[in-house]
Amino acid sequence: MNSVDLNGIGMTSQRTRERLVQRMVEQGIGNQRVLDVMRTTPRHLFLDEAMAHRAYEDTALPIGFQQTLSQPYIVARMTELLLEQGPRSRVLEVGTGSGYQTAVLARLVEQVWSVERIKPLLDKARQRLRQLKLRNVTLRHADGSFGWEDAGPFDGILSTAAPERIPEELLRQLAPGGCLVIPVGGTSQHLQVVTRTSEGFDTRIVEAVRFVPLRPGTVK
Ligand code: SAH
Repeated sequence: MNSVDLNGIGMTSQRTRERLVQRMVEQGIGNQRVLDVMRTTPRHLFLDEAMAHRAYEDTALPIGFQQTLSQPYIVARMTELLLEQGPRSRVLEVGTGSGYQTAVLARLVEQVWSVERIKPLLDKARQRLRQLKLRNVTLRHADGSFGWEDAGPFDGILSTAAPERIPEELLRQLAPGGCLVIPVGGTSQHLQVVTRTSEGFDTRIVEAVRFVPLRPGTVK
């Protein structure tokens, strides 16, 4: 990959990215580290060429297989919520998709495990993360509703697909003090933050969102 690819040209240029970051600040994103990482993570590399010119618009974009790369604002918001109660060292992401959210997380926490049910998406994400030399990421082709037992417990779990109800396994694999950031619901969804306390689980409902559904099983 040459420097033109990394820095982007035209609609993927630094100035376009700066505008996006400014917009996220206006929408209430306050974590400076998150903003810095989003400013310097090349979102256009996580899209197919035909979509790359739209990479720095604040919108969700198709990545094939009826899936989408989440809107930048929502990536920033979820990441900020995950880090709200302090730094995280072991984080599980459910729904790797393009790998963009994975890349953002990898630059802000110690270790990331990410699970994707659609194999071709996972393979592409793996290539991109390798290109960016993000080596603190481990990927797996699996149904993320079951978490990642062997790698847990996690002090952060972030799901980028929405279940109707939070899968038990994700709660079980949360370390004490750990938090789960997850969209929950069917036609009407809300972003929730569930924190594991000494007494049990503390749930906070943050805002209305729209995510692709968490689906069972895997796709080759
Ligand atoms: N974080 C991604 C968002 C992708 S959309 C990005 O930044 O691009 C959500 C993803 O969750 C989709 O790729 C979808 O295939 C995946 N997904 C849905 N149900 C899943 C499950 N049970 N296990 C793992 N991944 C799942």
